[in-house]
Amino acid sequence: MHEWALAESILTAAVEAAEKEKMKKITEITIAIGQLQQIEQDIFEFALEEILKDQEKKIKDVKIKIETEKSTLKCKFCENTWSFDDMKKKLNEDESEAIHFLPEVAFVHARCPKCGSPDFEIISGRGVSITSIKGEK
Ligand SMILES: [Zn+2]
Repeated sequence: MHEWALAESILTAAVEAAEKEKMKKITEITIAIGQLQQIEQDIFEFALEEILKDQEKKIKDVKIKIETEKSTLKCKFCENTWSFDDMKKKLNEDESEAIHFLPEVAFVHARCPKCGSPDFEIISGRGVSITSIKGEK
């Protein structure tokens, strides 16, 4: 399951960043999950907890905060940008649910609100990243 792989790579990246900063202990990590990232947050959080159990002392008692990163889309034709939230308001429940699990569906249902072009890209809010790491030196 890719939630586990993601959780593992986030924790590895956090440990590496802490080593670079010469932190003795990592106390808090803030993780941003893009609105259009295909992820089950419950599984992701569970994976983080489970993986942390086997980690070295440095990171074991870390507090993890999870935020949602808003998604922005950009029209490739007229360069208009708009947010996923705006788009979601126009979708029915089934469609917005489908997009949560399969972002590609967004491309089928959506059009640029300005010029009506179906040709657009996701410029933010897709993926998982670390936004901050706090620790003790
Ligand atoms: Zn457009």
